[in-house]
Amino acid sequence: MRCLTQKMNRDNAARDCAESKASNLNLIKEISETIATEIDMDKQNWFFLNGYVAHIKNDERLSYPACPNENCRRKVVEDSNGFRCENCQKTHPAYNPTYMATVRISDFTDSIYVSFLRDQGTAILGKTAQEMETFRQTQDPDTVQEYFDSLMFKKINLMVKGKYETYQNEPKMKFVAMKTFPRSVAAENKSLLERLDIYSTLEAVQ
Ligand SMILES: [Zn+2]
Repeated sequence: MRCLTQKMNRDNAARDCAESKASNLNLIKEISETIATEIDMDKQNWFFLNGYVAHIKNDERLSYPACPNENCRRKVVEDSNGFRCENCQKTHPAYNPTYMATVRISDFTDSIYVSFLRDQGTAILGKTAQEMETFRQTQDPDTVQEYFDSLMFKKINLMVKGKYETYQNEPKMKFVAMKTFPRSVAAENKSLLERLDIYSTLEAVQ
């Protein structure tokens, strides 16, 4: 029983710690409210949220063919000689698949659409844009869709930048993922299993 008490105390300490951390987080509903009250076209807004993946669009706009020049990364257009970058005025033999994924992120209050560009796309999709392109080209659509389905409800900590853009003459805040921190699902599951273990032991005693 002493062992059980110790375990409970440890769980409580972990929960308290998580709660104090959570006070730094923005709920998505709060973000929506901020957007509604102050419209400043020049301001960059930073949000930090704890959410999960509610939807990732599995379509051709997931990534784009980018110029392999790291300082350019503009979209290239295929021609008879390779892939033409108008910005560099150069035709490259290959292009660099680059993410521009649109992901709906939810928490228990609301949801927002966030753009996951470049490496942030890799963080959320679990494959580089090159790997994803090969995967989509070589696997049947059902297998690809299954992979996308497996990403649903993936929990993440996310740092998001919000900035107003004019969309159809209306100011609309556009969100871009700046950093993705994986949430420790393993640790959360372990603590849940430990708790279930305790309950089943208690039931057995009764
Ligand atoms: Zn270029």
